[in-house]
Amino acid sequence: MPKPVVTRFAPSPTGYLHIGSARTALFSWAYARKMQGTFQLRIEDTDRERSTEAAVQAIYDGLRWLGLDWDGEPTLQFSRAARHAEIAQELLRRGQAYYCYCSPAELEQMREEARAKGLPPRYNGMWRDRDPAEAPQGVAPVIRIKAPLKGEIVVHDHVQGEVVFKTENLDDFIILRSDGTPTYMLAVVVDDHDMGVTHIIRGDDHLNNAFRQLAIIRAMGWPEPVYAHVPLIHGSDGAKLS
Ligand code: GLU
Repeated sequence: MPKPVVTRFAPSPTGYLHIGSARTALFSWAYARKMQGTFQLRIEDTDRERSTEAAVQAIYDGLRWLGLDWDGEPTLQFSRAARHAEIAQELLRRGQAYYCYCSPAELEQMREEARAKGLPPRYNGMWRDRDPAEAPQGVAPVIRIKAPLKGEIVVHDHVQGEVVFKTENLDDFIILRSDGTPTYMLAVVVDDHDMGVTHIIRGDDHLNNAFRQLAIIRAMGWPEPVYAHVPLIHGSDGAKLS
């Protein structure tokens, strides 16, 4: 028997629910209902400065008003930070992630070197294979994922078709900050996994994140979700409607 379908809507409560995200939510909801699956709601409230209780309420009210009923209790992402950190530690244990002790000056130098070569700013893997015994004293490290170095990551997107991403454009991005808080990239992957999400239907502004998120999913050996990145709505001026 195929796995039951689980979709989700994962808004950040930093502003009010707008027509663009309501439309994306509608697709997730409709697909779950059609497939007799479940539609889950996750409030991505990790940006503590910009997330407000009023915006969370507005998301609940807006979805109810539209008749987009979700199943079960909403998941609040910030409350799961300890679980996200646990997975960062697990990736370290598996040799799929590492501590990086780079100083801001070293990072700035990497950015400048990349810029001079006309490349996008990226981390150069400085601590990827370095002996942790060389770690400087008194520096709280970040944890970075070991992104694949060669080849391509291919997403068979159900809206965009086959999308190919060259791993040379992927750097070892941060999954846990030096203060122990998870980055957005890690939190999304862990939550989608734990919520059993099978189909990720979201705006195509997140397509680039899918490749990074797949790097984490593969490093954990977790099942890969089906992706469907739907085009955003644009106004007559061509700007994204939000
Ligand atoms: N929180 C993100 C947003 O509001 C969505 C993340 C996702 O769907 O993966 O754009």
